[in-house]
Order: sequence, then structure tokens, then C-alpha cells
Amino acid sequence: MTICGICGRDALEDELCRYHHEASNNLKVAYEGWNEATGINWEEYLDRISQIEETGRWVIDVIEYIMTQDDPLTKM
Ligand SMILES: [Zn+2]
Repeated sequence: MTICGICGRDALEDELCRYHHEASNNLKVAYEGWNEATGINWEEYLDRISQIEETGRWVIDVIEYIMTQDDPLTKM
């Protein structure tokens, strides 16, 4: 059984548990909207989102996880 790369719970297909998987999906969907509206790039977006107070703990975890990857852009 694969475990979540962030929290160690049982993971789904992308090496994230269902909570972090959902947070990751939300992050990507929201990015598409931001990118269309402002032209912001992925790294700028993650940086921005991580500084918003309302951003949930699950999403923050995902951002921190993405940032530790060798190439954050491949995680889009
Ligand atoms: Zn997790």
C-alpha cells in the first residue's frame, strides 16, 4: 500500500491521501482561474496562496510538499 508523501495515511493514485489529494486538486483548479485572470505563474501562485490566511491546513501542506520537489513545475 502506498502512503501519502505528506502525512503517511493510505494514499490514492498520486501518492497523496484523499485529504491531500483533494487539496491538491482544489489548488490546481483554482490556479487555472488565477492564471487566466492574472497571468500568474505556478510558483508565484503557490507563494501567494501560502500567504493567504484563509488557506486551509491541507492546502498549505500540499504547497510545502510541492516546494520540496526538485522541480516544482513538474507537479502541476
Ligand atoms: Zn496526506
